[in-house]
Amino acid sequence: MKILRKPEWLKRKLLSSSELGNVIKTLEKYGLNTVCLEAKCPNRNICYANGQATFLIMGDVCTRSCRFCAILSGAPKSLDPDEPHKIANAVRDLGLSYVVITSVTRDDLPDGGAFVFAEAVIELRNEIPGIRIEILTPDFKGNHKALDTVLKTNPDVFNHNIETVSRLYSIVRPQADYSRSLNVLKYVSRKYNSVIKSGFMVGLGETDKEIFELMRDLKASGVQVLTIGQYLQPSSNHLPVERYVTPDQFKEYENFGETNLQFIKVFAGPLVRSSFMAKDIWQKISISN
Ligand code: SF4
Repeated sequence: MKILRKPEWLKRKLLSSSELGNVIKTLEKYGLNTVCLEAKCPNRNICYANGQATFLIMGDVCTRSCRFCAILSGAPKSLDPDEPHKIANAVRDLGLSYVVITSVTRDDLPDGGAFVFAEAVIELRNEIPGIRIEILTPDFKGNHKALDTVLKTNPDVFNHNIETVSRLYSIVRPQADYSRSLNVLKYVSRKYNSVIKSGFMVGLGETDKEIFELMRDLKASGVQVLTIGQYLQPSSNHLPVERYVTPDQFKEYENFGETNLQFIKVFAGPLVRSSFMAKDIWQKISISN
């Protein structure tokens, strides 16, 4: 297997900042997880310095095993009933104004853990009036009742990542389903007022023609904000990087999405991740609306 050399534009020095230390201390204090640390996100100190973090609820073990994801797969741990309250305390202590709540996929729970998302949003609103909340959820196996449980709490942004093009689903995320994920986005966009967001990675073997097709499908499913980033291989046990997309090519995706398809915002770039600069994107959208 030919290993591709990482291009210059992907090299980012991770600064050891006081914010990083402060966030890590607070997470330890409340026994919480963030996807920023679990997924080894290259942007974490920028987000922390920007008053934003992404909390991972319902443990750090997933019932699925997507071939691009650094999170552990296996038998999940039992739920911590105090987790929503602890997250609200941590967010208050960190003085965050924008928070993203995401989770591993809990196919072992009747509603996929939708009630935990709902409790987290309610606790945050009670603890920090005016906090902006984005939820990045699994597909809850397309269960509308579970989606209603979460969306009735009226999060500011509903995010569900499509991750890759339909042809690669069986290789990249074998327990997921392309049409099911589109239907989740469609259902929420037609029934609720949250801003609808989705995201995917490139560099897993897709063609640019497939990327433009995927963007059309997302637009047709009610998606308003889109993130596109470069896949990076977490370990040699994960799928190899098939190509490193150039910053110019990312610009072309952005232009196509905003000019041709009229997404409110397309945020595309080598180091873009689904929650990266989420707060800034939210502020831009709120101003333009
Ligand atoms: S469902 Fe999410 S957390 Fe689980 S393996 Fe896939 S990407 Fe990772």
